[in-house]
Amino acid sequence: MKAPSFDYVKVQSLPELLGVLVERGDDAKIIAGGQSLVPTLNMRLSAPEILIDINGLEELKGIAVADGYLRIGALTRHYELGRSDEVAAHAPLLAQALPHIAHEAIRSRGTFGGSIANADPAAELPACLLALRGRLVIAGQNGERTVDVADFFHGLYETAIEPEEVLVAAEIPVLGGGERAAFDELVMRHGDYAIVGLAAMAKADGEILSDVRLSFFSVEGKPVLAAAAADAVNGKPLNEEVLQAAQAALENDLDPLSDLYNTAATKLHLARVLTGRVLSKLASGGA
Ligand SMILES: Cc1cc2nc3c(=O)[nH]c(=O)nc-3n(C[C@H](O)[C@H](O)[C@H](O)COP(=O)(O)OP(=O)(O)OC[C@H]3O[C@@H](n4cnc5c(N)ncnc54)[C@H](O)[C@@H]3O)c2cc1C
Repeated sequence: MKAPSFDYVKVQSLPELLGVLVERGDDAKIIAGGQSLVPTLNMRLSAPEILIDINGLEELKGIAVADGYLRIGALTRHYELGRSDEVAAHAPLLAQALPHIAHEAIRSRGTFGGSIANADPAAELPACLLALRGRLVIAGQNGERTVDVADFFHGLYETAIEPEEVLVAAEIPVLGGGERAAFDELVMRHGDYAIVGLAAMAKADGEILSDVRLSFFSVEGKPVLAAAAADAVNGKPLNEEVLQAAQAALENDLDPLSDLYNTAATKLHLARVLTGRVLSKLASGGA
């Protein structure tokens, strides 16, 4: 199918963008890489009257480290994240997740901000941001505001971004001493959206993990932290008994949604499998 007809404007500055958003309100849709939006237009799941192309906004580009945070501009392409030395050094979880996102052609156009703003429950980057304790910088007519990632994802494709606002960047605390990252997902074919995925961070002292953050995606309507499973592991040497306790605790943490191919029970089982793999990776070195 082809997209319904729409007006198109390529804005050249943030004030111009915010002006068009206020003027056209709910009739407008921002387009960044177009890798999620264009398919929804073609399938007629969305029919905005005007697309606002933000690819010319320099304010939304670039990766930088300042004041203990790694700042990633919303227009940073997936492939740029994957090649960035700053990302590899300061947020290795993102570097681990990147090769799992779609395919090279999509990673060359899709943007970090597009993935975060789209809030697909099966997307890798929102879950990584939750594990990394990131925060989001959002701009609107009244200036910029910062939202903690814990308050950002509201549900299926819903975030704290208001219709007249734009996501400018994400800021992530740089990797601390002793912190480790591990990522894994289960898919039918490499590059598909995950059946279940897990992005994790922890502090490690030998095989003893603490401050464990297990962020699951493709399980509920938004990324979810498994707090009970983390509690079962924190401060203990990771052995078979502790692993099993963490896997059992997932029942209290997760309320999986079934999909066309997998029941909720299957998803819980797969989450347990991933928990075993990812915790073992964290204890044996992570990244
Ligand atoms: C075949 C295929 C497979 C894919 N597989 C995966 C996968 O495995 N994992 C995965 O995570 N993704 C996957 N994707 C999606 C891909 O990663 C997208 O690039 C990404 O989700 C959206 O980024 P984008 O820049 O293309 O956003 P767009 O498609 O341009 O926009 C997506 C949405 O975000 C909004 N938006 C974009 N930027 C901003 C901003 N700065 N501020 C406010 N709103 C904004 C748009 O209005 C729109 O609603 C796949 C896509 C395809 C086509």
